[in-house]
Amino acid sequence: MRQSAPAMTEDYPTGAWELPDELRMLRETVARFMVDEVRPLEDSLPHDSAGAPAEILGPLQDKARSIGLWALQTPRAFGGAGLGVLGQVLVAEEAAKCRMGAYFPALGAFGGNPPSVMFQAGPEQFERYARPIIDGRMGRAFTAISEPSGGSDPARAIRCRAELRGDHYIVNGTKMWTTHAGTADWGVVYVRTGEQGKRGGITCLIVEANAPGLTKKPIGVLTSYSPYELHFDNVSIPVSNRIGAEGEGFSLADDFLVKARILYGAGPIGIAQMALGLAIDWAKQRETFGAKLADRQAIQWKIANSEIELRAARLLIYQAAWKADLGQDVRVDASICKVYSTETAFRVVDRCVQILGGLGLAKEMPLERWFRDLRVKLLGEGASEIQRMVIARQLLR
Ligand SMILES: Cc1cc2nc3c(=O)[nH]c(=O)nc-3n(C[C@H](O)[C@H](O)[C@H](O)COP(=O)(O)OP(=O)(O)OC[C@H]3O[C@@H](n4cnc5c(N)ncnc54)[C@H](O)[C@@H]3O)c2cc1C
Repeated sequence: MRQSAPAMTEDYPTGAWELPDELRMLRETVARFMVDEVRPLEDSLPHDSAGAPAEILGPLQDKARSIGLWALQTPRAFGGAGLGVLGQVLVAEEAAKCRMGAYFPALGAFGGNPPSVMFQAGPEQFERYARPIIDGRMGRAFTAISEPSGGSDPARAIRCRAELRGDHYIVNGTKMWTTHAGTADWGVVYVRTGEQGKRGGITCLIVEANAPGLTKKPIGVLTSYSPYELHFDNVSIPVSNRIGAEGEGFSLADDFLVKARILYGAGPIGIAQMALGLAIDWAKQRETFGAKLADRQAIQWKIANSEIELRAARLLIYQAAWKADLGQDVRVDASICKVYSTETAFRVVDRCVQILGGLGLAKEMPLERWFRDLRVKLLGEGASEIQRMVIARQLLR
């Protein structure tokens, strides 16, 4: 019987997991920017801030732009930096390492990217609506899909209806939970133009925030910012604001949406890694019953399990991103990444709150904000159950 495990030789391909030099440099640049520029500014803002005010954000964006950290997700053909998915993942992980990082990575320093469906827009639509975001003249646009009738199965649930009358669509209905609708000048709205209850028949329209008949109401939720309910009462939208053909709404940005799921978990992993650092520091200082918390196995195992799970999540994301950059089919990988990384990050932050005790829930620490912000990530961009459904469907096919 074999008595010892085989030795790891010099040939063991650890090098296969090294990032290319230019991506390591990118990650280091973002990490330095966060330490030198973002976190000192954030310390001057209230704990529950939703983004940074213009007088802080403007100069911060100028600095980011001057070192090439700008519109990183926007393809080069549209005037962005055109980072690959792995590069975007590395930036997202580092840029989330601040108190507001779950929703305002690097406080928004790296500029907005238009909703990915805009990369399928016509040239005039793109210049008029998306260009100001890429140029830094406007912040983010909103994307309105979910409705009171449900967000998980929008292809069937969407009731917000657009009727074609001449060269305009007349839109009636309600959208729910629309992030950034309070500040954006425009957004993309997915409406029904086909038969109700069937998949398909969904059309994507660009809607200006001040369109007559469109009203907005903030919805109070546990996060530090509010999503909005949008009510459309005979809102008239020119046909020239339709992206793609009628009924094509959901197929337009398929590829981008799959990649977005890979990216979605990267920020939470960065946040959870920071939370773990805080918990380790605290465990080394805090004494109870005559010993440091760090000496207790109950605490050590929380720390060890968190590190194990974070490394696993990170590798899943990096591998899926790498496959996406090679042009491989990553639909299942993306769902695995989304569900595992968001659930891991939330679980790790929860453990870290426990290690810090009451202080973990105090507003003077970032942990309580991360705990709230990361909870939403289990529902956004396709809830955990929906991702598991996608994975199981593929396996059971
Ligand atoms: C803070 C916040 C911001 C948001 N921002 C936006 C935004 O900008 N734009 C936008 O369009 N939407 C946004 N959403 C909406 C979000 O995408 C939806 O909440 C999400 O898709 C779930 O939809 P729902 O809430 O209607 O739940 P439902 O679809 O009603 O689902 C309820 C629960 O049932 C589960 N479930 C559903 N179907 C199945 C199934 N087949 N098997 C097992 N379980 C299932 C779901 O996973 C969920 O847990 C936001 C939500 C929040 C809370």
